[in-house]
Amino acid sequence: MQTPLSQLECWLGALPAAEALTAYQAWWETTGRVLSETVDRAGTPWLRQYNRFGERVDEVIMPAGYSALIQEGYKHGVVWRAIEEEDWETSFALGYITSYYDPGVYCPHTVSLATAVMLRKYGTPELQARYLVPMLRRDGTAWQGATWMTEIGGGSDLGTYVQTVATPEGNAYRLTGSKYFCSNVNAEVAVVAARPEGAPAGVRGLALFLLPRYREDGCLNYFIRRIKDKIGTRAVVTGEVDLHESQAYLLGSAEVGIYLILEVLNLSRVANSVGSVALIQRAVDEAESFAQQRIAFGKPLAQQPLMRAQIARWRETLGAAFALAWEAVRLLRSVWAQTPPYSPTYHLFRLITHLAKYWTAEQAVQAAKWCMEVHGGAGVLAEYGVERLLREAMVLPIWEGGSHRQMLDALEVMQRRQAHQLLLEHLQPYAEPTELQHWRERIDAYLKQPPEAQEEALETLIPPLAAWVGNTLRATLRAG
Ligand SMILES: Cc1cc2nc3c(=O)[nH]c(=O)nc-3n(C[C@H](O)[C@H](O)[C@H](O)COP(=O)(O)OP(=O)(O)OC[C@H]3O[C@@H](n4cnc5c(N)ncnc54)[C@H](O)[C@@H]3O)c2cc1C
Repeated sequence: MQTPLSQLECWLGALPAAEALTAYQAWWETTGRVLSETVDRAGTPWLRQYNRFGERVDEVIMPAGYSALIQEGYKHGVVWRAIEEEDWETSFALGYITSYYDPGVYCPHTVSLATAVMLRKYGTPELQARYLVPMLRRDGTAWQGATWMTEIGGGSDLGTYVQTVATPEGNAYRLTGSKYFCSNVNAEVAVVAARPEGAPAGVRGLALFLLPRYREDGCLNYFIRRIKDKIGTRAVVTGEVDLHESQAYLLGSAEVGIYLILEVLNLSRVANSVGSVALIQRAVDEAESFAQQRIAFGKPLAQQPLMRAQIARWRETLGAAFALAWEAVRLLRSVWAQTPPYSPTYHLFRLITHLAKYWTAEQAVQAAKWCMEVHGGAGVLAEYGVERLLREAMVLPIWEGGSHRQMLDALEVMQRRQAHQLLLEHLQPYAEPTELQHWRERIDAYLKQPPEAQEEALETLIPPLAAWVGNTLRATLRAG
């Protein structure tokens, strides 16, 4: 049986920061696992809104050890390696290891990374000095980031439902509105979507702002209304936030704000894909280990033909899912610094990322469900930790844009940017010419249908396309 790191090495060969990755995995085995279980069992944390003097403080009370659980990844470089060394591979390898043990922990890491990237790309030197530098600390005191777009009306249709208004004041802005799903709500700084006063309706009028937790005078800059009571991912605290003339700083230009918001989401979608694959590995490992030891009809379950075939099929899916997710990582590494208008490689990155986010998350849910079934009745008992995989997996197809959104966005980038042509060219070294021809004809014919028919039939196109791309990309791995 592989560990997450040995599985990564099997796919990718020697990794650049192997020592750090080894130490990080060892920390999870000796310490992280127990902390993670403690946090999950403790359930939803509580919010202390007022101090003894009746002043608003909005402190999230977490179980002991929570800070260590989160900070270990920052120490090892999930953020600073990408920002300071442009070593995206190690950052995402750390994410893979984290998610194998606790996908919830990878959420704070991901949103912090996305915040840091936006500060690095679009922050003024002054903002970088004040907010980015503390995010890169390696001593267990790193500041955290967050990415808050969604409001009460819904997360898919941001153009309609982001109602937070940004009013200019000197070099900064004041934001007023509410954010309905705020993961890592206890972060020191967040990037948020808002509409500058007088900006047009729809997505074109949105801009991205940096929102610190505290004002320059040390007071709370916004209020946490409540904490969401979730089925899983308890290692990340998700809350609702009220903004009352909260101090904020515009990132980049408001005219292209929606593109910056999508840059944030696309980065998180890559991380979601990597995390989903790690969860698939964990589910397949747990299932196989149980099936090797459980005897039914005179021999281990793993030796029964049906079970043996299922295990083999899941190992194949794992390889394809990893190849797809890692291609998104590789492309992100080459396009992350681009600003609008983007190059064709960025559009290819977007298509692969939508396919990866969609397909890996859906597979993760199925893998977790299958793993429970392999355990029979024991699978549903909280004491063995297998049911937790399903609780953790259920959010993966939803946050960072649901599966419908990923399918629709993949369609859009094919319609508007011809990204499928770029994809087929990209896959040329790995695919049979007949397969490439088949997909070229199939997609061209698909895109000739009326727009409504294209949306309606999307499930006949995107799932098989994603599976084919993943399987084809297995050729890019050392051992697929
Ligand atoms: C635990 C958790 C943490 C989260 N953290 C954050 C966070 O930190 N920051 C943040 O901004 N958001 C966060 N979210 C919100 C998340 O991004 C949204 O839930 C997601 O984008 C979907 O939005 P919605 O829930 O409002 O669903 P809706 O937008 O109302 O959509 C409902 C359903 O309709 C589907 N749908 C939408 N449009 C179409 C269409 N055209 N055709 C077909 N189907 C469609 C959607 O895929 C979904 O299945 C979080 C969510 C969860 C559950």
